[in-house]
Amino acid sequence: MKKMEGRIVQGIGGFYYVKTEHGIVECRARGKFRKDNITPLVGDVVEIQMVSDKEGYILNIAPRKNQLIRPPVANVDQAIIVFAITKPELNRTLLDKMIVLSESNNIKPIICINKIDLGESDEYLKLVDLYRRIGYKAVATSAVTKVGIEELKSYLKDKTSFLAGPSGVGKSSIINSIQSNITLKTGELSEKLLRGRHTTRSVELISLDFGGFVLDTPGFTALTLDIEKEELKYYFKEFLDLQRECKFSSCLHVNEPGCSIIKAVEDKVIDKNRYISYLAILKELREKEKRRY
Ligand code: GDP
Repeated sequence: MKKMEGRIVQGIGGFYYVKTEHGIVECRARGKFRKDNITPLVGDVVEIQMVSDKEGYILNIAPRKNQLIRPPVANVDQAIIVFAITKPELNRTLLDKMIVLSESNNIKPIICINKIDLGESDEYLKLVDLYRRIGYKAVATSAVTKVGIEELKSYLKDKTSFLAGPSGVGKSSIINSIQSNITLKTGELSEKLLRGRHTTRSVELISLDFGGFVLDTPGFTALTLDIEKEELKYYFKEFLDLQRECKFSSCLHVNEPGCSIIKAVEDKVIDKNRYISYLAILKELREKEKRRY
């Protein structure tokens, strides 16, 4: 029987479901990678040996671009960072922290502001505009009226993505509205399932009919930022050019003399809330560092 290439879309009890150009193949792991103690992960690009029409075994795993721990998945391209404009109230610092978290894991962040049908002002437009100006893709959506869903789909096309964001912002509702054959549980129940320690739940990559994959489970459920405080300023894109002008190259933009970032905030060149987020995340990293020593 012949060999084929594919992508692991699900793993249950020692079986891996590999999407190939001829459909889903049920595989066991039997390749030489087992000696190296590498376990196949959902998201892995694999070479399989077919043993029948629908069954095979995994021969090789291609080198991983990246790997998330929770949920366990490999080779993700981008994180759709979802926040609601209201209900729950939008936490700007958490949003900016998730952007840093995403980029520090080598995953491209895309910002999605949901529930715009509930927004009473044009606040969401300003936010989308702000993040676009910084250089990110950003979209305003409503899973209820479907505004922005087509634009979001254009960002998902041909990529492997997951949705991240606080509970209740509409992540499951958005996934459900991008494709008619997907139904994830929304509201309380899905959160309970995710939190439940004793629920064994397998992760699944949903194959999108317009091309690409989306993870059925939100990412970054355990939020720990693994960078040094000195690195943080490089994850704020709009600081990059300006901070070269700071008097001190080690400037952390807190209260140092001749800081070009503080000046840019005063001159409204840099958004004040972004700067507040920077200071809050920096404080968190400092406290973490203190605990370490
Ligand atoms: P998740 O926890 O992020 O997956 O959020 P869910 O998709 O479960 O949504 C939480 C609640 O918000 C549910 O009651 C949804 O019906 C509701 N919801 C989701 N998206 C929208 C939206 O765009 N507009 C409005 N008005 N409600 C929404």
